[in-house]
Amino acid sequence: MIRVAVSGARGRMGQRIIALARKDSALEVRLGLERKDHPDVGKSIDGVAVTDSPVRLGDCDCLIDFSSPEATAENVSYLVEFKKCAVIGTTGLDAGEQSNIKEASSVIPIVFAPNMSVGVNLVFKLLREAAAVLKGYSVDIEEAHHIHKKDAPSGTAKKIAQLINSQGFNINVEDIKSIRENEIIGDHKVTFESDVDKIEFTHSAKTRDIFAQGALVAAKWVVRKPPGLYSMEDVLFE
Ligand code: NAD
Repeated sequence: MIRVAVSGARGRMGQRIIALARKDSALEVRLGLERKDHPDVGKSIDGVAVTDSPVRLGDCDCLIDFSSPEATAENVSYLVEFKKCAVIGTTGLDAGEQSNIKEASSVIPIVFAPNMSVGVNLVFKLLREAAAVLKGYSVDIEEAHHIHKKDAPSGTAKKIAQLINSQGFNINVEDIKSIRENEIIGDHKVTFESDVDKIEFTHSAKTRDIFAQGALVAAKWVVRKPPGLYSMEDVLFE
């Protein structure tokens, strides 16, 4: 049985991760972490203790973190101290926060992925292959999310730009179109266009469970790994 902690436990993602993990006999949700002033701190919700104290991460095998960049940074420092692994889905981390995660991964195994969905990671793989072939095409990236999302463009869209650029393109993050509307869970569209044709890749998330399921797959995978920084592509296609 893998003992997991979920940071951002009362958020949109945290609640779905806990609900799905509770149905999984390979996992035990030991605790939920929340911000200090959250009204649920100190309560037990669906049998999971909600706490604001990352020191309790020592009781768990793995942290699944979908919270905020500041919380993620604090949690990772405790995980390094306790030598416990992490699945980090939080987005919007700045360069310094990302480099701290890289440094921590020399001591503990960490899966760090802006999008944990199996479908999106398959699209990443296909886009890399497409970009390797479609030299000279123009590329356009668009993403749409709900109005509560704090970062723009999305971590997924930035990763798409990065992986297409790795094949010789030069997409600027500022050129990614971001739409914030209603309760859209997460849509991404990439268009390659030449004078003679247009090729489009789209992915549309229908429920948050695609990310939550992926996070649980990653947690079961990362507990068997040596220290290192892993992507969701490592988890799914190694
Ligand atoms: P949300 O705002 O609904 O939830 C965030 C939760 O984190 C809130 O409950 C908040 O109180 C809590 N939190 C804030 N500070 C905290 C602290 N110090 N310690 C513990 N918890 C704290 O947001 P959400 O939609 O659940 O998304 C959370 C993060 O996950 C965002 O960065 C989002 O972009 C990212 N996300 C990633 C993926 C992925 O597949 N990687 C998918 C969806 C969302």
